[in-house]
Amino acid sequence: MRPDGDVIAAVATAWGDAAVAIVRASGAGSAARADNFFRGARPLSLETARRMVLGNISDGSEVVDQVLAVRFERGNSYTGEESVEIHCHGGMSAARRCLELFTKGGARIALPGEFTKRAFLSGRIDLAQAEAVLGVIRARSDAELASSGRALQGELSARVSELSGELTSLLAGIEAAMDFPDDVDAAEYADFASAASETGRKILVLLERCRVGMTLQNGVRVAITGKPNAGKSSLMNAMLGSDRAIVTDIPGTTRDTLDAVLMHRGLSVTLVDTAGMRESTPESRADVIESIGVERSRNAIKGADFCLLVADASSSLMDEDFTAAAAALEKPAILAVNKSDLDSVLTDGELEVLGNFTARLYVSALAGTGVDDLKDAIFETAMGSASPSDGMMATGRMVSALEEAACRAGEAAVVLGTPRRLDVAGSLLMEAGECLSSLLGRDAAEDLLDEIFSSFCIGK
Ligand code: GDP
Repeated sequence: MRPDGDVIAAVATAWGDAAVAIVRASGAGSAARADNFFRGARPLSLETARRMVLGNISDGSEVVDQVLAVRFERGNSYTGEESVEIHCHGGMSAARRCLELFTKGGARIALPGEFTKRAFLSGRIDLAQAEAVLGVIRARSDAELASSGRALQGELSARVSELSGELTSLLAGIEAAMDFPDDVDAAEYADFASAASETGRKILVLLERCRVGMTLQNGVRVAITGKPNAGKSSLMNAMLGSDRAIVTDIPGTTRDTLDAVLMHRGLSVTLVDTAGMRESTPESRADVIESIGVERSRNAIKGADFCLLVADASSSLMDEDFTAAAAALEKPAILAVNKSDLDSVLTDGELEVLGNFTARLYVSALAGTGVDDLKDAIFETAMGSASPSDGMMATGRMVSALEEAACRAGEAAVVLGTPRRLDVAGSLLMEAGECLSSLLGRDAAEDLLDEIFSSFCIGK
């Protein structure tokens, strides 16, 4: 695949007051386009590549701005094409005028993500790396940045290529054996089967790392539920370290859901404080509002990755606790036994009856005890046994491709084990290989590329 080739230009930095604004252009002839308006010691197209030079940009006889400019040769630039960057003064005006000077000279305004798309089309980066660029730009934590950085540096691509290579050589062995099926003995079948299952296992390891990367990138949504007055809002505030949720001692105060984002150990956790899970029969207007709240909290649980059930240590379990527990346990759920600063009336045995939770913690929103442990429990529930330092930025597309590849490799191992159908195993392994190739964007359809790159910002 080759890039379109026309010269595209865009402002690569955010608009607004800033020290510097960068306008970039890419495509054959982009330096010549800059020659039309850049006035330095020499035309930019004659300057040494990758060296910043000082000059002015001029519109006719009017000097628009004093700038630094640099040109990149084809094969040695972000896009892989000949390109140019003009570093103007920040703010809205200089960059806008500079962009106009490019378009006056025949460049067209770049589409979102078009520079990165060209980098992909010129073969400088693969699709996994291109998507990692977006991960780096959007990273909100060091852990997320590191996981995107690893993918951008090509660690994911290298691992995928390695696994592809394993599948290809296994496939070559199977195809050679297919020519003389009668000569294939049980030991050889066993070797093929164990090679297929070993590659499948390695794909699963990579998949786990990608899931961690995806969790870091997307964050998690945690619905906080429990009977009215258990201390859900207080606990949410204690975790956030602020008074984001309204706390009162009147049951049923949180009638709508309330979202707030907590960053913990590099993971973005959206806490959703839901209305109390009290079954209300709408008699008064206030009850109608509360029953809408209950409906919303059910929806909040549906939309959450997991739940946090808050129980009140100072009061016996009520029907409302069981209603809330049943709703929470539709997802993996953590149990926080709140108000542990007061005399506890709840025994472990009673709490067992509430159901199976991934963790049970005794906390006090009021005293702040156990709150950090609770945040850790949320983090551990989200991450499983994986460490964020294993994370590899991935999108849903990549994770599905890996899941499918692992599945096909596993099936091939089974087929090589008992029915011993070399042809079936061969086509399963071929499909596994195709999934891995699709991850890197080999033979990607144009509409998939459009979908991916349109989510980028202009100028990237
Ligand atoms: P929600 O209806 O579940 O959101 O409960 P709130 O957060 O509004 O709290 C209900 C009442 O319990 C308020 O009066 C809080 O001050 C009180 N409360 C919340 N957490 C604790 C706690 O850990 N200890 C004690 N003693 N009181 C608490």
